[in-house]
Amino acid sequence: MTDPTSDRRRDALMGERVAVVSGAARGIGAAIAKRLAADGLRVGVLDLDAAACADTVGAITEAGGRAVALGADVSNEESVAAAVQQLDDELGAPTVVVNNAGILRDNLLFKMSVADWDAVLNVHLRGAFLLTRAVQKYMVEQKWGRVVNMSSTSALGNRGQANYSAAKAGLQGFTKTLAFELGKFGVTANAIAPGFIVTDMTAATAERVGVSFEDFQKAAASQIPVQRVGTPEDIAHTASFLVSEGAGFVSGQVIYVAGGPTD
Ligand code: NAP
Repeated sequence: MTDPTSDRRRDALMGERVAVVSGAARGIGAAIAKRLAADGLRVGVLDLDAAACADTVGAITEAGGRAVALGADVSNEESVAAAVQQLDDELGAPTVVVNNAGILRDNLLFKMSVADWDAVLNVHLRGAFLLTRAVQKYMVEQKWGRVVNMSSTSALGNRGQANYSAAKAGLQGFTKTLAFELGKFGVTANAIAPGFIVTDMTAATAERVGVSFEDFQKAAASQIPVQRVGTPEDIAHTASFLVSEGAGFVSGQVIYVAGGPTD
């Protein structure tokens, strides 16, 4: 049976959609925001500091898209509510949420402070909960929605990342639960679990372990089946698919985007 929704109809639908992408001032979030805008969505570019979103918003508008900068801390309930309200006022009701904001506070367990544990869990997990909860009423009203949560290969465990791996594994359980709860409202929820992606985050890790970023990337690439490290655009491509109209039967999945199998 052929799909009754024509490509043209799908394109038109995307033009009506509004997305919010957290941590979109740079790195993976910026690439996702730009890609979704290129796909025709209007995009709320959310990050801690609205001014830091200027490059992403500028790139989108220069390319003919529509975007707004939203300054918010995803771990703060009032801040998230205000940003989502601003997005609704300025671009329309969001029905796509990409929970991408993240931080690292790596340390071996015996040296990990409670503050570092809480900071990581708060940004990744509490942040994804708060932003998704704020957007779900619009998705349920419109009987359509897409949730994309940024997990990581570290969800499978990674030395020095007890806090981060717990948060990234937690996001996978959160994703599957959303898929169960929101499916009947036409909402899908999926997670992307990237491997090594070239961003400021991996550059900071190289600096912390005292290796040049170039050598760090070379060492990582040699362990990856496709023999290269990933780019933010690799992740944006996967996010674009999961957000697309045609991906409505894909839900509750974790897609590892890591250049090879992960276990
Ligand atoms: P990044 O370059 O460090 O960017 C993360 C962005 O999130 C930054 O703009 C940061 O703002 C923002 N952010 C941090 N805390 C926030 C908060 N409380 N509220 C709102 N925004 C906040 O990181 P990335 O490499 O693009 O990573 C993006 C996501 O992918 C993260 O969830 C990360 O864990 C995940 N991931 C990355 C990799 C990788 O290899 N890079 C692999 C697997 C998963 P500031 O600049 O102000 O801190």
